[in-house]
Amino acid sequence: MAITKDRLLEKKTNLKEKAKMKCCYCGYTDSKVTDSRLSDDLSKIKRRRECLKCTKRYTTYEIIDSVPLVVIKSNGVRQPFDAQKIKRGLIKAFEKRPIGIDEIDKMTAEIERQVQNTLDGEVSTHEIGKLVMEELKKKDDVAYIRFASVYLQFSDPESFAKFIASIKK
Ligand SMILES: [Zn+2]
Repeated sequence: MAITKDRLLEKKTNLKEKAKMKCCYCGYTDSKVTDSRLSDDLSKIKRRRECLKCTKRYTTYEIIDSVPLVVIKSNGVRQPFDAQKIKRGLIKAFEKRPIGIDEIDKMTAEIERQVQNTLDGEVSTHEIGKLVMEELKKKDDVAYIRFASVYLQFSDPESFAKFIASIKK
């Protein structure tokens, strides 16, 4: 954790050198940073600054932009990643299964985290489907089979039967 925080901070500091902050007292654009720290969820950097002209101190917050993730559909169309779609898919798969919505939320967050981690900027619906399958497999056979039957689009009963048999092993 500590390494990640330091790295992020370092990366942001380099970026920061180009941007100018205006002093909120006198409007001067040069300040020195007296303290920088990352928020616990790593999403913000809080900086204490001292104006080089009037020497008053103020605080700035920088928000770390998450890189927008693009999803490539099987027909080649690109669209922004939407975790709600994963959640809807999970809800459908878990219909009438003994699982709470908070559990589904947790799974959605876990899948989203994996999507954000493993891929750089672009991900296919196929890859997302694979991650969803892996998560479902750990939780519930019925939901797993339901999702797989849509995702894998079995063309005949035999390949579906083969798939079912492979789970039982
Ligand atoms: Zn000032």
